[in-house]
Amino acid sequence: MVTIPKSEPYIQALNKDWYCPFVQEVSMLRLDVIHPVVSGNKWYKLKENVHQAIKYEYKGILTFGGAYSNHLVAAAATANEYGLQSIGIIRGKYASNNLSPTLESCVAYGMKLIFVSKEDYAQRADEQWLTFLLNEYPGYFVIPEGGANKWGRDGAKAIAAYIPQGYTDICISVGTGTSYIGIVNALPPEQQVYGYIPMKGGNYMKDIITPFIDKDQSIAPALFDKWHFGGFGKWSKELTDFMNSFYDINKIPLDMVYTAKMMYGIQEQIRQGTFPFQSKILCIHSGGLQGNASIAHLLTY
Ligand SMILES: *Cc1c(COP(=O)(O)O)cnc(C)c1O
Repeated sequence: MVTIPKSEPYIQALNKDWYCPFVQEVSMLRLDVIHPVVSGNKWYKLKENVHQAIKYEYKGILTFGGAYSNHLVAAAATANEYGLQSIGIIRGKYASNNLSPTLESCVAYGMKLIFVSKEDYAQRADEQWLTFLLNEYPGYFVIPEGGANKWGRDGAKAIAAYIPQGYTDICISVGTGTSYIGIVNALPPEQQVYGYIPMKGGNYMKDIITPFIDKDQSIAPALFDKWHFGGFGKWSKELTDFMNSFYDINKIPLDMVYTAKMMYGIQEQIRQGTFPFQSKILCIHSGGLQGNASIAHLLTY
């Protein structure tokens, strides 16, 4: 029996001390609670993809990710739950006795791991390379890295159903931009959606995202790449201290790759008066807590 999601998302108000007296309200949409591994936005992006794979009777899914990829382990768990095989094409080579915690979980969910060099991995969206992979592993439905395809974007629209009208500003972390696109396209234009990019020099995401936005509006001012803390997956003591204090005040655990950097940025913007006083801000907790395993010793939760 399929049991994803395990629980419904809900909205949790942040402690007033975190944002007073600058704005009316800051709350979090807790997508992280829906499942321990298939958490946050990943489920929504995978859902329609897996439905396609089942509908067209593929024997499994084949997807891509790095050693700490939330998408990869979510895909492995989802495939397992639906009785599909799964193959993960992994960026970089790891000995089977030296896997990251994320890759260990992938294996536990029955995912077959194929390790490729960074150069080969760079071709992950290349038609020729995909044809080569499918010759090698026929019968697999290919899901791009991060679930970044039409079905991923369509699936992410479902997140908007959990966003009540009263919120003026919606904040979400951006990796591939798939969730951002789905949410922007599903919400009315008066609800502004901001994307927080955890990659260094992440401004290039603007060109990747823009073609998929239905609305006649520029998204340029709505993407921020300032809070990367050295780059994707990088962190500092300042960030882990922030995560611990955020948990202390709000009792919400953040992940170090995406949501911690976003909330840090939002707090800075709130204090600088970027959001008008009338703002009611809804921050989306996109999950990813499994990725904290490698810094668990630095966290108080
Ligand atoms: C994957 C992930 C994202 C990025 O989502 P995209 O749809 O690829 O932009 C954001 N937050 C968390 C916690 C994630 O795991």
